[in-house]
Amino acid sequence: MSTAADENTTKTGETYDFQAEVARLLDIVARSLYSDKEIFLRELVSNASDACDKLRYEALTDATLLDGDGDLKITITANPKARTLTIADNGIGMSQQELVDNLGTIAHSGTAAFVEQIGQSEGSDNNLIGQFGVGFYAAFMVADKVTVTSRRAGADDAAQWESDGKGSFTVTAAAADTPRGTEVVLHLAKGEKEFLEAARLSHIIKTYSDHIAIPINLVGEEGALEQLNAASALWSRPRNEISEEQYTEFYHHVGHMFDDPWLTLHNRVEGKIEYTNLLFVPGSQPFDLFQSERKTNVKLYVRRVFITDDCEDLLPAWLRFVRGIVDSEDLPLNVSREMLQHNPVLAKIRSGLVKRILGELKKKAKKDSEGYAAFWNNFGAVVKEGIYESGDYRDDLLAIAQFRSTGQEGLISLADYVANMAEGQEDIYYISGESAEAVLTSPQLEAFRARNINVLLMVDPVDEFWLPMVNEFEGKPFRSATRGDINLETVGTAPEADDEPTPAANNALSSLTALLKLTLADAVIDVRESNRLTDSAVCLVAGDDDMDMHIERLLRQHKQVDVAAKRVLEINPKHPLIRHLADTVAEKGSEASDELDDVAWLLLDQARIIEGETPPDPAAFARRMADVITKGLAG
Ligand code: ADP
Ligand code: MG
Repeated sequence: MSTAADENTTKTGETYDFQAEVARLLDIVARSLYSDKEIFLRELVSNASDACDKLRYEALTDATLLDGDGDLKITITANPKARTLTIADNGIGMSQQELVDNLGTIAHSGTAAFVEQIGQSEGSDNNLIGQFGVGFYAAFMVADKVTVTSRRAGADDAAQWESDGKGSFTVTAAAADTPRGTEVVLHLAKGEKEFLEAARLSHIIKTYSDHIAIPINLVGEEGALEQLNAASALWSRPRNEISEEQYTEFYHHVGHMFDDPWLTLHNRVEGKIEYTNLLFVPGSQPFDLFQSERKTNVKLYVRRVFITDDCEDLLPAWLRFVRGIVDSEDLPLNVSREMLQHNPVLAKIRSGLVKRILGELKKKAKKDSEGYAAFWNNFGAVVKEGIYESGDYRDDLLAIAQFRSTGQEGLISLADYVANMAEGQEDIYYISGESAEAVLTSPQLEAFRARNINVLLMVDPVDEFWLPMVNEFEGKPFRSATRGDINLETVGTAPEADDEPTPAANNALSSLTALLKLTLADAVIDVRESNRLTDSAVCLVAGDDDMDMHIERLLRQHKQVDVAAKRVLEINPKHPLIRHLADTVAEKGSEASDELDDVAWLLLDQARIIEGETPPDPAAFARRMADVITKGLAG
């Protein structure tokens, strides 16, 4: 928040310091050699348009707010003599306090994050300004002083904000006859004269702001007005009259995004319930995607009048990456926030939108697998929240979900996984963990690899939530590769057969297993010969009815579970170390138990370390390790 610098208080007003982030942003803006400076006009016009939308909405419940001036519009005036460019609107306006708050701090977390990012990479990232947009502060790309005069609708007094964009701004009272709305006067800096030319201004408005639904007028030199934009809501125009650029500009304006949309859905639904939707799926991840509020980002209009950008029931949270608008023909114009809750019309619109979006995603997955993979990498983790939250769409969502796997590069759908299962495979195998990199080295996957059995990687935190609720896909149960006893003998391609172990070797192994069980009795559920391992000596797996090890670790990190559950220790009968130990047991009988005590604990700790866990007693681990190595060196 900005703070009043009281030593600077004068009779006529107050000087305030910009919030630190704003000061940094202004610094970046001033240093920038950004070539598309013209976007400042897009930003100021966008704000003016938002201000008119807000007034039109407030006037629904208080018509007097529009008194004397009902035609909402934006007026641009160039004054070559004074070298000023003025952008004025007769929208909602700002009170003195709002001037301080809105033009002294950063409104959007995205902008704040942008400042963070660019602040670290000195200089070179001028392009980022164009990509992110810097809102109102873009004015300082072309102006060395900005004066904002504003009167809030319905208020008696007016105020003026002024700054040279260098650390502080002043706010003073303004003349009582200041008209309703906001006037932004840019005192153009040296070299920016081009922004006084009518042709240039007209071109900029047509490029970036044609979609703005209210008239944008340019005051010519003789005072004649020229309307620069089409001034009809973009979404109410026929699709074939809208260019891709116009859609993109609208997306930037409505979604506070600065990339290209990946998917644009513009259609009108007729019948019992009538509405138009113009929705976009972004081409990149918005900054606030994983914020805990999980706020959706689609604006609700009723017959072209903006109602709210905060309507929880319009889309489920698992589609919060979608940007755009919905314009209803059926809701009453004076619809209140309360009326929007559990509203049957809204519920129908919502299910129509969800079906439409899911249907398009399904098509995209089929037609454009590369593009779909990019989409899924951006938003798959969000979409999967829906599998868990929404029984209604669970099957649709499972149908469009994709996963990384051990068997192939890129992503695979569940349907493709099932269609390509190995000979004799009955289950959908998966391994869960923190990241693909972490799970790909898991010893539990060795036998799957040896037998060419594909295993899905469940590496988004949300996977832990939906997996327990979804038992199967197309009749094939999901099965964790790290839980329970797994027998792959009849699945996949058999690896090269080893020599059958002799009965004596089998006996020795049984004795070793029994001895390990005895030694580790309090620390494990069981010790058994592994069907999973081919290369590693040992691994841990969860008991049949226990939680997957990765989930349990997550819960422990979040203090939801105190003690680690016991595991099954699996040993690899073919590993030289295990064979050697078995021989020792066979040779020495019960005398070996002392000798093997340390080794047993080391095997268990080793298995824990592979799981990414620390041995519960690191000092004992280190001591045993030192002892065993010493003996080895001595022997
Ligand atoms: P954003 O538009 O993304 O919120 P800006 O930096 O463009 O961020 O504007 C900051 C805030 O200043 C706006 O959210 C709005 O509250 C206020 N504002 C800017 N211009 C106007 C205007 N012409 N009329 C009323 N309020 C405005
Ligand atoms: Mg803005």
